[in-house]
Amino acid sequence: HSSTVLPVVGSEQRVPTLLGEWLDVANFDHGASTPALLAVADAVERASTTYSSVHRGKGWNSRVSSALYEAARAEVATFVGAREDDEVIFTRNTTDSFNLLARALPRDTTVIVFETEHHATLLPWPARNTVRLPVPASVADAEALLRTGLKETAHLRGPRLVILNGASNVTGEYWPLDRLVPIARRAGARIALDAAQLAPHAPLDLAALDVDWIAFSGHKLYAPYGAGVLAGRRDWLDKAAPYLSGGGATATVTTQGTTWQTGPARHEAGSPNVLGAIALAAACATLREHRRLVTHREEDLTERLVEGLRAIDGVETFSIFGEDHDRAPVVSFVIDGLEPGLVSAALSAEHAIAVRDGKFCAHLLVDALLEDAGVEARSAVRVSAGLANTDEHIERLLNAVESLATRGPRAAYHVVEGEGWV
Ligand code: PMP
Repeated sequence: HSSTVLPVVGSEQRVPTLLGEWLDVANFDHGASTPALLAVADAVERASTTYSSVHRGKGWNSRVSSALYEAARAEVATFVGAREDDEVIFTRNTTDSFNLLARALPRDTTVIVFETEHHATLLPWPARNTVRLPVPASVADAEALLRTGLKETAHLRGPRLVILNGASNVTGEYWPLDRLVPIARRAGARIALDAAQLAPHAPLDLAALDVDWIAFSGHKLYAPYGAGVLAGRRDWLDKAAPYLSGGGATATVTTQGTTWQTGPARHEAGSPNVLGAIALAAACATLREHRRLVTHREEDLTERLVEGLRAIDGVETFSIFGEDHDRAPVVSFVIDGLEPGLVSAALSAEHAIAVRDGKFCAHLLVDALLEDAGVEARSAVRVSAGLANTDEHIERLLNAVESLATRGPRAAYHVVEGEGWV
């Protein structure tokens, strides 16, 4: 393993390229999913010997699994800085977390959400109770749009919920939470934060961020698929109907009817993903322990990526809040005259570089950015760096993009525009 900071699984496997080299895959797709940390793989292996569904009596297996599962919950609570009235619910991923929250909203809740959002946080809300704010052009514009949205909904009776994003999965930019949260709070709104792209890069703290809920996915945090988190205020969640009906969520079941548990169990019916929760918690613990090192490394990666890509003729990078705005090591761009799917295919085949192309489940934002930039492309290429990257990967990527921008691809690729955009 060649990471300079925290080792991840399998980063030294070599593959042949069309140009006749054997190279390790330069994984610039951390924004989609990250490889597992070695510490995470170890935790999963250790926990794989004995397991059974949790909280099912006094038998040995269930007690071992229950203890590990609840220890994982406690670690996640620490990771997000859970307050006294908060709870941590294990879900499948961020999408699942926001769908769960959407089902738990009091009936007359109005949701206020920017069109910049990932589809996971743009789409779960009932349309007639949702106000969409357009893509902002600057931080000041985002503040003004939010103020207007809150003013226009001030007369409504029910609670209001503002959805905010920690970091954009398209541009990598950190949202100005310190400016937007107080605006929502002064208007008496609750806040749910999409931390899918923030959690891997920055510490989370529910109290310091002053948000009611936070959600993120294990597979973007150096843990495997299948486990995510919804953490935050328990009041609405305890009153809501269970997300799933079934074993584990019940308090009593008689021929007269069913009563449900309160707390996380209410929304975790069925045998839970114990190994997923353990993996996710191991990632949280490892990142917490090494946060300063990770931050330092990522700042370096970000600077080299952003400056390197911007310096290449014919490359257009995107930004919501302006070029100097702080961001995670995530950059989307287009190369003049080259279909993004083609760029992505050529980077894989010729250089063993993994990137993503498309609209990144954020169609409204990507469409707005492309239109603003006046480029021909209808999608973009995204590079997202992280702990699996070496310095050589950055150099390889910048050289490859420069070569594509000046000479085009070396081979013909079958690329259908729109295929694989989701
Ligand atoms: N929000 C953001 C900002 C994301 O980047 C993603 C994943 N691309 C999600 C939500 C959804 O995460 P998941 O696919 O794990 O549910």
